[in-house]
Parts: sequence; structure tokens; C-alpha cells
Amino acid sequence: MKTTAVVIGAGQAGLAMSHCLASRSIDHVILERGEVAHSWKTERWDSLRLLTPNWMSRLPGYRYEGDDPDGFLDMPETIRFIEGYAESFSAPVRTGTTVTSISNAGDGYRVTTDQGEWLSRAVILASGACNMPRIPPLAEALPESLDTITPDVYRNPDQLEPGGVLVVGASATGTQIGEELHRSGRPVTLCVGEHIRAPRVYRGRDIQWWMYAAGVMDETYLEIDDINRARGVPSLQLAGSDDRRTIDLNRLTDLGVRLVGRLAGIRDGKAQFSGSLPNLCALSDLKMNRLLDRIDEWATESGLDDENEPPHRFESTRVEASPPLGLDLRSGEFRTVLWATGFRPDYSWLDVPVFDRKGRIRHDGGIVEAPGMYLIGIPFLRRRKSSFIDGVGEDASDLCDHLADYLDNGSKRV
Ligand SMILES: Cc1cc2nc3c(=O)[nH]c(=O)nc-3n(C[C@H](O)[C@H](O)[C@H](O)COP(=O)(O)OP(=O)(O)OC[C@H]3O[C@@H](n4cnc5c(N)ncnc54)[C@H](O)[C@@H]3O)c2cc1C
Repeated sequence: MKTTAVVIGAGQAGLAMSHCLASRSIDHVILERGEVAHSWKTERWDSLRLLTPNWMSRLPGYRYEGDDPDGFLDMPETIRFIEGYAESFSAPVRTGTTVTSISNAGDGYRVTTDQGEWLSRAVILASGACNMPRIPPLAEALPESLDTITPDVYRNPDQLEPGGVLVVGASATGTQIGEELHRSGRPVTLCVGEHIRAPRVYRGRDIQWWMYAAGVMDETYLEIDDINRARGVPSLQLAGSDDRRTIDLNRLTDLGVRLVGRLAGIRDGKAQFSGSLPNLCALSDLKMNRLLDRIDEWATESGLDDENEPPHRFESTRVEASPPLGLDLRSGEFRTVLWATGFRPDYSWLDVPVFDRKGRIRHDGGIVEAPGMYLIGIPFLRRRKSSFIDGVGEDASDLCDHLADYLDNGSKRV
């Protein structure tokens, strides 16, 4: 089968790209191994709500139209939103079609799937940035008596045996699931590495509103000194809930969660924690305060001080004077380890030499170093908001412009 462009993945990124291609009448197909919104349907926990407010659920030609713009969609609502988007423009999705290989073929690509083969001039990789949990190699030294679980298969506390849980990672996922598990009566110890603290509400408004207003979310990859680092920073410690609560480390401490440093090693059944916990917390507080400074400056310059609550700062993160540097994982205190240590993409099916030595795809803001190949949906692809539902649309539009130019003018333009 032949087409002009093949899009891999029918999440929001692939659909946004499809919408842009359709608006330019570029013939294309979306190949999806599962169903539309597959990741939201199969890899998220039951209680998860978007951490982005409903007004941020915007895609090219489509947006949240409900009566609660400041609320947060739950998973069924999010799935319905993405499905509704696909239906709104009759996206050409082939579901149940797994791409097993992409290779060079003439001036285009051969896309092999379990349902046949496609030849196309262009390929758009929209297969997701969070295909697999990132588990550190030290996991191999865990005592066999412990259960382990990752966020993509975690659904709710009932899945876990009663007993203590070591949650490794304190970003959005680790803090949210850690809170839920602790509330379920399973005492949680949280290993805290680098993390980004942010209040849900500041001066009476959602932090995301401020970040948009002050221009933070629209910063582009060209403005950032070390974009590889920026693409790897952890997610904000944020959660969506009706009470708009902040889930930071102080809140977890108040609930009874014990904080320890980054998990640095496991030897003879004993977990070893880095002594950097106080420093990492101080650094995170500092960065949060810098963000709030920037917001306050913007509010003053924009004459918005009178319309909003006055500037204020939050209590510094409280850390035990001497948090434990080691804990015996065989003492019976722990039953389960949850790896909330991030996710990574899976491009094991991409047989085109576009990888750097760390296995990342070489690209310039999504324009891959292979003519006619594009990448979309990864953190900070072109903008700080790139990995959010709200950010992918502008990226898709930029990449579609480039792709149309490439089709018109050939490979010398790339
Ligand atoms: C826990 C979690 C919470 C998040 N919360 C928010 C939030 O609150 N707000 C927000 O804006 N963003 C949030 N995000 C970020 C982002 O919106 C999601 O990760 C979103 O799913 C990304 O969309 P995508 O289209 O890039 O990738 P995906 O939704 O992962 O879509 C990729 C698609 O490609 C398919 N695919 C992969 N490999 C193949 C193959 N070989 N062949 C065929 N198909 C394939 C997959 O089945 C999948 O359907 C969250 C992410 C996570 C992990």
C-alpha cells in the first residue's frame, strides 16, 4: 500500500498531526497498535486525573467545551476527549496495527506492520514518550521477597499486598501514587531525588495559568541552553483534584509518609540512600521561588497586582535532621517497591540510523536527521508545553509546514 505520509500512533500527538495534514490535503494514514487513546486506556491508574486544567485540553480544531474550565478531567473523560477529537475530523486511523519496522526505501520509507506493508514519502513518529517505565539497574539487587510494580501497570492500592511500600521517585507519579497508597493503610517511604516543586494555586490562580501568562510554557527549545537536559527534567509535582490541593513533600510528611534520599544502591538486602535529600529539597524550593519571582514580576509589569492576591512564599520543605541513609528491605517493614522513576520511549522497531550514542533520536525540534521523518510528542520538543495535550498542536502545525515544504521541494530542503 502507498500513501504520502504514515503517522505512527493515535494518541493526541498523532491525531494533531493528522488534523494538520488533512487541512493541507496531504494523503496519510495513522497506524495504531491498539485503539485511539491506547495509552490513556491501558497504562494509567484508576484515580488519575489530568494535572492540566480543562481549559488546557485544546487540540487543533478541538477543545474542551464543558462548564468546568478550571476542573481536571478524569481518565474516562480524557479518553472520551481524545476519541471525540479523532471522530471530529474522521481521522484515518488503522487500529490493531503494530508497526514492526521502518526502513529506508528509495526517497521514502517502508513501514512494515503486522497487517501488511506501507510505502510513504514521509513518516511521523508519534508513538509516545512514555512507552516503558524507566527502572534503574540497581533494581536487580532487590530481595526476591519483595513485590515490585511500575506505574503503567498500577491501577489501585488493592493490587498490592498489605504492608509497607518503598516508592522510588518523587515527581508527579511518585507523589500521587505514594499519597494514595499511604491513605490505603500501606505505610509509604518515599525516595526523593531531583524533583520540581510547584503549588497548585498561587495568588488565587492555578499555577498553569500563571505559567502561561508569564510566558513560561511558550518558551521554545531554541531559547534553552541545554535542551537535552531540559528534555529530561522530571515532571512538576502537581495533581488534579476537586479540592485543588498541592501534593508537595510537606503535605506527604504531614500525612505520615517518610522521606529518604535518592535510592543510591542495594547491597545485602539493604537499601542505601543518598545524603543529598536536604540539598535537593533546598534546590527545589529555590527553583520554585524563582518561578514565583518571575510570575510576580510579570504580574506587576502587567498591572495585575490589584486583581490578584498579594505575593507570598510557601514554607520551605521540611526534612528530618538526619534522614536514614540505609534501610533493611528484608526486615518485614516493606512488602512492595514501586518504581516511579520515569518513562522512556520505545523505538526498537525503527531501523533507520537516526540514533545518538544514548539511543535518542537525533532531531532539530522534531525534524529528524532523515529526510521526511518527523518526531512529535516528546517533552520540550519545540516548546516547554510540547508534551501536554495543549502543546502538541503548535508543534504539529510547525512540523506540518516543514513536511509540506519537503514534499514540494525535495530532500535538499531538510
Ligand atoms: C501518568 C501520566 C500522566 C499525564 N498527565 C498529563 C496531563 O495531566 N496533562 C497533559 O497534557 N499531559 C499529561 N501527560 C503527558 C501526555 O499528555 C501523555 O503522555 C500522552 O499520552 C502523550 O500523547 P502522545 O500522543 O504523544 O503519546 P501516546 O498517548 O502514548 O500515544 C502513542 C500511541 O502510539 C501507539 N504506538 C506505540 N508504538 C506503536 C507501534 N510500534 N505501532 C503502532 N502504534 C504504536 C501507542 O499504542 C499509543 O496509542 C501524562 C503522561 C503520563 C505518563
